Amino acid sequence: MSGIYIHIPFCKSRCRYCDFFSTTQLERREDYAHAIIAEFNDRLHLLTEPVHTIYFGGGTPSQMPVECLRMILECLVDGAKRLQFSAQPYTLHSTPYTLHPTPDTLHSTPYTLHSSAPRSTYHSSLIVHNLKNTLHSSAPRSTYHSSLIVHNLKNTLHPSPDEIGDIELTLEANPGDITPEKARAWREMGFNRLSIGIQSFDDDLLHLIGRRHTAQEALQAVATAQAAGFDNISIDLMYALPSQTMEQWQKDVQLALHLGIQHISTYGLIYEEGTALTKLLMDNRLQPVDEELEMRMYDYLVGQLTANGFLHYEVSNFALPGRHSRHNSSYWNDTPYLGLGAAAHSYDGQHRQWNIADLDGYIRQALAHQLSPEIEHLSDEDRHTERVMLGLRTSQGVAKADIDMHKAKPYLEQGLLEDKGERVAATTQGFHILNRIIEDLL
Ligand code: SF4
Repeated sequence: MSGIYIHIPFCKSRCRYCDFFSTTQLERREDYAHAIIAEFNDRLHLLTEPVHTIYFGGGTPSQMPVECLRMILECLVDGAKRLQFSAQPYTLHSTPYTLHPTPDTLHSTPYTLHSSAPRSTYHSSLIVHNLKNTLHSSAPRSTYHSSLIVHNLKNTLHPSPDEIGDIELTLEANPGDITPEKARAWREMGFNRLSIGIQSFDDDLLHLIGRRHTAQEALQAVATAQAAGFDNISIDLMYALPSQTMEQWQKDVQLALHLGIQHISTYGLIYEEGTALTKLLMDNRLQPVDEELEMRMYDYLVGQLTANGFLHYEVSNFALPGRHSRHNSSYWNDTPYLGLGAAAHSYDGQHRQWNIADLDGYIRQALAHQLSPEIEHLSDEDRHTERVMLGLRTSQGVAKADIDMHKAKPYLEQGLLEDKGERVAATTQGFHILNRIIEDLL
């Protein structure tokens, strides 16, 4: 199985806590769509397995015009289908990329484990790519392109949900962008999962962190998406926001539980360097919540969601049975994925690779078929570290064979780790000190 991640970096405005790669240059959206398609056509051969998930993340993918999304999606779905139905993997001789790991990148540890990092941070830390050299066929690229055109002509103009089949196709959306027309168009073009960046149902907190929407718009956005036919909806919620009280958080969690949604991702606020919120903090102009309250908020969240049928399948993710994010799960279980777009990361099980984090530079390079991503080779030790770090984030945990069980014993005795037969997993209490546990077990 493999996935495709498409980074859409456009945002209407910048949120005060955000340090992701994003831009307000909305006038470049169409050029960007063409650049994504050019990159995908150049790199399709790097996917070695059928594509099971496609994820449009950002930035704000819902800021992309419907026609641009449709254009990208048609290209991706067509490529994914060709892989799915192909008896042989695609085999092209040359790759425009060069491997150049540097000593600096080899030993970087980009993960943020304890407070759950916002997902774009997560994407940028993990994403990877497929450079497996087994993918060589004798079909020249020009042959491949012409057969793709023929294939396109044989199909309807737009991929239908039937054509998309079993692919989990997610679009991240901001509440203010979700209109009945857009939601219907997204559903009709094949998106079957919507991830809505709500963050809070408290207008004062939303204003403080620089979000564009109100609580009422957030509620309306979910209803609009459901009315358009989305039955696999995730929302993001943030806690430990400046001056946030336990009562405010409880209200957020209870509202979320009454929305009829299938998935909730939660993020404890991190004051990232260089953000507007961090500057306010350093100027003593806002009140951070203390660590003890943040832990209580997390415990309340876990208690309420699990009592209401949600499975706590990853430190910051909860899903009704069968509704976990298949795409994000692939990041935690060592599945290869291809990242497209500015600053997007890819992974092939052995290398991590990332594109230039510059909008104009990315568009120029991609359209000229001259992208030259940086590539980091993962040593056996790197891969072992990642297995332990990522495994312990999940309810499946990590294989006992991957850790020093003598060091795990005290945590098992204190109820911070749980014995699951062949594996060991963190408990809710263990998640509070996950960084320390991981450091100890490695
Ligand atoms: S948090 Fe999301 S919407 Fe806000 S600026 Fe960052 S990428 Fe854009």
